[in-house]
Amino acid sequence: MMSEELQEALNLAGDAVTRDADGTVRLVGSECGDCGKKAYPPSDVCPECMSENLSPIKLSTQGKLYSWSVVHAAPKGWTLPFIAAYVDLPEDVRVFAHIVDADPDSLEIDMEVETRMATLGSDESGAPFESFAFTPVQKGDS
Ligand SMILES: [Zn+2]
Repeated sequence: MMSEELQEALNLAGDAVTRDADGTVRLVGSECGDCGKKAYPPSDVCPECMSENLSPIKLSTQGKLYSWSVVHAAPKGWTLPFIAAYVDLPEDVRVFAHIVDADPDSLEIDMEVETRMATLGSDESGAPFESFAFTPVQKGDS
């Protein structure tokens, strides 16, 4: 079984990630019915106005890289090193996630990144676990 801390660290919110019909990985955040503030991970209370009038909203699959850091030391289970980053989605939501399939030296502030699922480590029995991550958008791809 995956340790609770690891699960928490990974932010595996279960239904906070969904897939479109074509397999595109999409984060599901929350939207405040009172002030319109969107958040990820989805919350029960609006971080802006404390309203509890929230509903789920599917977020964009592409965002801009806000900042990142290469992590060389982390709790057991993580595949090291990894790139931890903040990604700004068009909904004005800042998401903390891994960046995968990227050379850290190739990353640039504000570069376009998109969601995908990735194997980020293994649990106590050695079984790989997956979570959402972002990867740089390949220019020229359709
Ligand atoms: Zn609100």
